[in-house]
Amino acid sequence: MFNTGVVDWARIRDSSFDVDRVPALLARLERRDDADAWQELGWRLVLEGDLVFPAGFAALPQLVSLAPRSAQARALAGRILERAAGHHGCDDLLADCAGTIAEFGEALDRHLRSRPADYLVSFRALLAVAQEYHWANALEGFTDDIYELECPHCAAEMKIAVGRFGCYAQVWDGDEELRRDLRPAVAEELTGTGRWMHRTAVRDGQETLADGIAHLFGDAQCPVCASVFNIADEYTHANRPAAFIDRVPSSAQDTGAGASPSHPADGVGTRPYAAPGTKPRRQGP
Ligand SMILES: [Zn+2]
Repeated sequence: MFNTGVVDWARIRDSSFDVDRVPALLARLERRDDADAWQELGWRLVLEGDLVFPAGFAALPQLVSLAPRSAQARALAGRILERAAGHHGCDDLLADCAGTIAEFGEALDRHLRSRPADYLVSFRALLAVAQEYHWANALEGFTDDIYELECPHCAAEMKIAVGRFGCYAQVWDGDEELRRDLRPAVAEELTGTGRWMHRTAVRDGQETLADGIAHLFGDAQCPVCASVFNIADEYTHANRPAAFIDRVPSSAQDTGAGASPSHPADGVGTRPYAAPGTKPRRQGP
């Protein structure tokens, strides 16, 4: 069932510079689930949870084939893709995976609809599929999420807290804590990535996640200068990787990073933004 024939494993190294272990582990995992094999495969493909190796991209087709029935496969494929914008020197391998990545998006979207136990991990993987790498790497589920930002007007460094302990912008001035409540977005007014993320969470009954996303894509007021700005716009501006992999239309990528909070780009709010996988979004050269 796997296209192992098209991967020349003898030339593709893992984190230990081995070439034979990854295909052997994948073959074992295709036959049966095996915790030890998953653990070894994990560090061979993504060293210390951070550095992805060529074998990681080469293994994606097999991981994606396992993804509908394996939480381990979903998590590992997601970890690989969350790091796809980093400097790994595997752009060619990644480009070859475009079809596989689209297939992974479809599998994840189907899986999320079933309201699974690994919802957050799968949601983050879907964000990575959509090349929303900064969200894929940042979202913690809003138990007590902290986002560090600079005020776009006075450059004060602040923490944005979204969780059960409150939703606020916070600045420390010596011993004095300055705090302002966040202003969550109204769901109907969300656009682009925020709308898609929120709708997906609402669709799947993930109330905490949906509420957190509404706050994240809403406004904050700077505790120092009192100016109001959009949190997601500032966070995206500061954290989105500069390099994009050319496998989705540029229109799908322009989902907020370029739109100012007070003057959203024309059309961003009205253009349908399908979840990756529900519609093919790739385009030819
Ligand atoms: Zn300020």
